[in-house]
Amino acid sequence: MNPVDTHCPYCALQCAMTLTPAAAAATPAAAATPAARPAPAVRPADAIGLPVSIAGRAFPTNRGGLCKKGWTAAELLGSAERIREPMRRAADGSFAPISWTDALDLIADRLRASRAEHGADSVGVFGGGGLTNEKAYQLGKFTRLALGSSRIDYNGRFCMSSAAAAGNRAFGLDRGLPFRVEDLDAADTILMLGSNVAQTMPPFIGHLDGARQAGGLIVVDPRRTATARLTDDGAGLHVQPAPGTDLVLLLGLTHLVLAERLADTDYLARRTTGFDQLRYSVAGWYPQRVQEHTGVPVRQLRELASRLAAGRGTYIITGRGVEQHVDGTDTATAAINLALVLGLVGTTHSGYGTLTGQGNGQGGREHGQKCDQLPGYRKITDPAARAHVAGVWGVEPEQIPGAGIPAVELLGALGRPGGIRTLLVHGANVVVSAPDADSVRRGLKNLDFLVVCDFFFSETAALADVVLPVTQWAEEEGTMTSLEGRVLRRRRAIDPPAGVRSELWIFQELARRLDAPGVYSADPSAVFDELCQASAGGIADYSGLDYTLLDAGEPAYWPYPAGSGGTPRLFLDRFAHDDGRARIVAVTPRGVLAPAQTRGALTLITGRLLEHYQSGAQTRRVAELATAQPEARMQVHPATAAGLGLTDGGWAELANERGTVRCRAQLSADIRPDTVFLPFHFPADQRANLLTAAATDPISGMPEFKRTAVRVRAIAGP
Ligand code: SF4
Repeated sequence: MNPVDTHCPYCALQCAMTLTPAAAAATPAAAATPAARPAPAVRPADAIGLPVSIAGRAFPTNRGGLCKKGWTAAELLGSAERIREPMRRAADGSFAPISWTDALDLIADRLRASRAEHGADSVGVFGGGGLTNEKAYQLGKFTRLALGSSRIDYNGRFCMSSAAAAGNRAFGLDRGLPFRVEDLDAADTILMLGSNVAQTMPPFIGHLDGARQAGGLIVVDPRRTATARLTDDGAGLHVQPAPGTDLVLLLGLTHLVLAERLADTDYLARRTTGFDQLRYSVAGWYPQRVQEHTGVPVRQLRELASRLAAGRGTYIITGRGVEQHVDGTDTATAAINLALVLGLVGTTHSGYGTLTGQGNGQGGREHGQKCDQLPGYRKITDPAARAHVAGVWGVEPEQIPGAGIPAVELLGALGRPGGIRTLLVHGANVVVSAPDADSVRRGLKNLDFLVVCDFFFSETAALADVVLPVTQWAEEEGTMTSLEGRVLRRRRAIDPPAGVRSELWIFQELARRLDAPGVYSADPSAVFDELCQASAGGIADYSGLDYTLLDAGEPAYWPYPAGSGGTPRLFLDRFAHDDGRARIVAVTPRGVLAPAQTRGALTLITGRLLEHYQSGAQTRRVAELATAQPEARMQVHPATAAGLGLTDGGWAELANERGTVRCRAQLSADIRPDTVFLPFHFPADQRANLLTAAATDPISGMPEFKRTAVRVRAIAGP
């Protein structure tokens, strides 16, 4: 019954919390909680029948704070909806329990059959950014060795891929924030592009206070979000461009910085390459032209450029709002270019960073879940990387398949001839979260066999042939890597339900049944040690880490090579390219400047609410969160609503060639009249991704989530 220090199960801020197990574990019935309670200083366990109590813990990122998702996370553990034994779907669509032995035997048989009949690449694996480092690593190894398949990718493709690609291209390394979160405290100027941290990770906003007090918080967002409102009363500036015009805005700001002679020319000469090409590429983006495309007044553009240059500690931070575009990599690159031109990156007091979203979005992309990468963030096509990892795995390099295909392409191949016939899904709910969601649902139904590992019957699990129930965060050991590249320990506070297993055990059992080469330990500590070996010499080098060191509270920022300490702040001396310099890559809009709207249509942007996380598969099952936000609501400007006959709380229909969403309207002057907003957490015909397209960024594979043409009309009801 001792308190256990761990971190939140949800977002990448990974707020520190202490769990105190209840005297007696809650029964499922007892776990049903009242609809609303005041937030206590410590969320009691026994008093409301939860398996653990949760208290925020002092830590540099959250300083003891938790948002309401974190406070209520214990309800997931004892939920009456929890799957507590493997389930098999019958021909009539109903699910019935099946023993672990029978379930794993069946899965192994079907995997062998798919490979024999259609080839190894007929088996696909879809991972998640919420998996621990150990699970993400083992999933990549299991897919490539035990299944012999190249077809693995993960839901981080929808989250971090554009910023990751831009960071790798510019710096030779992608660590979301290449500095500590607490370093932001000393900044007097922070430019937040497309990020609503006040709702997505509320404890983070305390780190914006210094900039706010200096009047230097600048928020770029088409909506007047909770984060944009932090700029009120002299705290800063809210810039409200048209959706999808972020790249032009950034090109225009860079143009102004150069035209006004605000660039750090000494820094550019010492620390970068490629500046001359940039100068030419932004020459045509003069303020009047940028205003025409973005809607941002010339006066505001000039003010923005001069504020950025005048800051004594200036950070530029991007989020999904500017990255989830078909030109997301170039947009993130333009933000990096602006930061480089101002001389911000790799200094002690300024910088550029991107805010990772999912809990282990950072670690999830470092250890081999990406279709083109091996552990240590190594390229799978690099012969030296293949040889190193093969040595750790005890196989020949030729036994590691080549590069696979990114997530949207993988999902597009479901059930198709020559495509994916059997799919394993771990920690993802693609029926809700993937673009063009209904085509994904149809693809899943066309599979020969679908296996889903989850805690609940998510919308994706409901289509599976076999569902395997897995441990949750408070029931397992492991590590997560936060948005600042700090490796953190996840610790077990309570035992899982009797019929629930860890994915590591599942991989071990399946690998044994498949006579797979290599060793698959079910012990997280042993897997972490192997992961660290596999990462040695790579970009994300963990080779100096182990659980003992992490348990001692070492602030372990990677790279953390053996025999060395960690690296809280990157690039102070050199960037990760061979020549030690950052690469300025000149980018220009690639024919995506035409307005998204077809005649009579509006531009849809999707995003998150405070109460929900990702597809909502977890948070929709927490009573307090579901009561506060039970359904999708379309945010629409009152003037637009009046023209369409929409009323506040009345029903609306959003439609395009891919699908139709019916939901209530929420009238708000916080959004542009040409734009509507839908949260993406909701199921059935309120899935925002019924409307988004599977078009992707050619560099990162990121889908377009922030610029979709929709027709909107008032309807009488659902
Ligand atoms: Fe959890 Fe993120 Fe909320 Fe912190 S901000 S409590 S990590 S969901």
